[in-house]
Amino acid sequence: MSCRFRLLFAVFFFTLLNQTPSQASTLSLANTAVNIDQQTPGPLSLATWLNYTIKPTSNIINIKKLPDHVWQHLPATMIKNIDTQKLWVKFNLYSNDIGSIHRILSLDNPHLDKINLYHFNEGELVSELFMGDRYPFTQRPIINNNFVYSFDINPNEQHAFYLEIDTKGHASIPLTLWSVDDFTQYSEHLSLLHGFQLGALASIGLFSLFIAITSGSFSYSYYAGYVFSITLFVATLYGIAFRFIWPQWPILQQFMVPVLLPLSMIFGLLFTEKILQLKRNSPHMLKLCRYGISYAVILLLFSPFLPYELAIDINIISLLANSSLLMFMAIIQGIKGHKLAKLYTLGCSTVLIGSLISGLMYLDILSLPFQPQIPFMLGLSFEIIFMAAVLAIRYNDERQEKFDIQQKALDQAEQIRQNKEQALLVEAKHNEKLELMVQERTLELEIALRELNQANAKLTEQTTIDSLTGVKNRNAFDKRLLAEVKISRRQQSPLAILMLDIDRFKSINDSFGHLAGDHALRLIANALSVNLKRPMDLVSRFGGEEFAIILPDTNESGAINVAESIRQSISELNIYWDTRLIKLTISIGVSCQIINKEADTPSLLDQADKALYRAKNEGRNQVQMYSPDLILL
Ligand code: GH3
Ligand code: MG
Ligand code: MG
Repeated sequence: MSCRFRLLFAVFFFTLLNQTPSQASTLSLANTAVNIDQQTPGPLSLATWLNYTIKPTSNIINIKKLPDHVWQHLPATMIKNIDTQKLWVKFNLYSNDIGSIHRILSLDNPHLDKINLYHFNEGELVSELFMGDRYPFTQRPIINNNFVYSFDINPNEQHAFYLEIDTKGHASIPLTLWSVDDFTQYSEHLSLLHGFQLGALASIGLFSLFIAITSGSFSYSYYAGYVFSITLFVATLYGIAFRFIWPQWPILQQFMVPVLLPLSMIFGLLFTEKILQLKRNSPHMLKLCRYGISYAVILLLFSPFLPYELAIDINIISLLANSSLLMFMAIIQGIKGHKLAKLYTLGCSTVLIGSLISGLMYLDILSLPFQPQIPFMLGLSFEIIFMAAVLAIRYNDERQEKFDIQQKALDQAEQIRQNKEQALLVEAKHNEKLELMVQERTLELEIALRELNQANAKLTEQTTIDSLTGVKNRNAFDKRLLAEVKISRRQQSPLAILMLDIDRFKSINDSFGHLAGDHALRLIANALSVNLKRPMDLVSRFGGEEFAIILPDTNESGAINVAESIRQSISELNIYWDTRLIKLTISIGVSCQIINKEADTPSLLDQADKALYRAKNEGRNQVQMYSPDLILL
């Protein structure tokens, strides 16, 4: 393989500027040997002493026989398409030291496909080596990321080195001669640098991946993808990936770069879309970004099948177009005031500045005391670190936003809770008031009901009272009689009835007037009531000037006694009307019976009536007891 990544940027710049590398000199130094001794300062770049020719042969014998004028000086950077033919490079070494010198020859381009090295001492073949990344890594004579060969050179010996280089695309042949000490120091220094850079990138990648897995964040997933593809890309450029990841599959060396570049573009675009929040901020840019992603996916699918040189060229141009697009979008968003876009622009610019310095160094316009690829690699590393910081800020912003939304939701919930509480309080107050009102109304109702009951009782009372005399009326008498009949039947107690009729009352009315008659009736009724001692005794006006008295649980003799005392007190009663004395007597008929059946009631009244009739007939002012043998006259 030839075009190599140390030259990626130089290629780009040369393509842009339509320049070719300085074909500095065509003056052949074919047989000029590099004189070395122990004091020769190392490392010694052999660029000045390298000669090349392009011949489609692998026969070293024929190459050795070529005349000097066929050989041309090899420029420091060989950037030329030598796809079809084989490149032969030679140089000579001569030792003028007094002792044997041990030297290491290194070819610092780990991507050359095939290198056949022929080492001659005074025309004699010392060794023949086959190296290159088309062979498994383990076949290398000395295990190193670059191609390394060690040899001894004795005093006054002339050594010739021929390198047959078979590779595709552009080639750079950075050959350096080292003393063992210098080479050891250099290797250690380089390993440390590469280790540090790859370690930092891999840590950031892993860290992002873990955050992506635990938080489910798309931004971090894309970023992790971006960092891993860049890390693998860098590891491939350094030859470290070949050495440690796929040492037995040299074929992968062909495919990794054309795959990793589009992959990093895809992840870079996806990541940018999230960081710049294009979905929210700019639908046009989002569309542009999506087109870019689609293009990169197509590139990813087709690159491995294109001729290597073409695939690399397309990828580099696409990468630059992609970087310009990202930069453009970031700047526009930055101008619009997007905080993260500004930081993103800063991050991107580190790679651009790095690329620019590297390009200028490759073009020999700028000379700095380190290798040309270092600014680009530093820029890339800074970009990755910078983007990690940008992502962290975005993650924090997102978290803060989420937190704010949650807080707002909590506040709203609290507000709703308070409102509810207030509503409940109002409802409770209202209920309390309502309850009080109900209690008040109930009380009022109870009072009204009681008053109504009292009025009712009064009314009932009034309906049972005879209005003229104030004793019970006939209705009350009838009801009471029914009740007493039942009691008598149940308790088998004697029930007595007194029927009273005022004697010759008609003549009172006639003599004194009806008002006097009414007055007499009232007084007699009162006298009757006074004469009854038991609370259950009942006196009633039976009709006209007739009264009836119920004496519960009273036998014949008791009834006769009561009747007699009534008769006597009435006869002794002095009734005055207009100072005139009215004397009255009363006749009483008594009946007494233990009731056996309710049908006996009328007969009890009838018997009393009959007894009264007898008393009237017997001369009035007397008491007559009913007996079955009573003969009515
Ligand atoms: P006796 O009973 O002794 O045979 O004679 P009497 O005059 O009382 O006869 P009777 O019982 O038939 O008379 C009833 C009279 O009583 C008729 C009426 O003049 C009188 N009387 C009935 N009710 C009232 C009343 O409410 N007020 C007055 N002032 N007189 C009444
Ligand atoms: Mg009468
Ligand atoms: Mg009468």
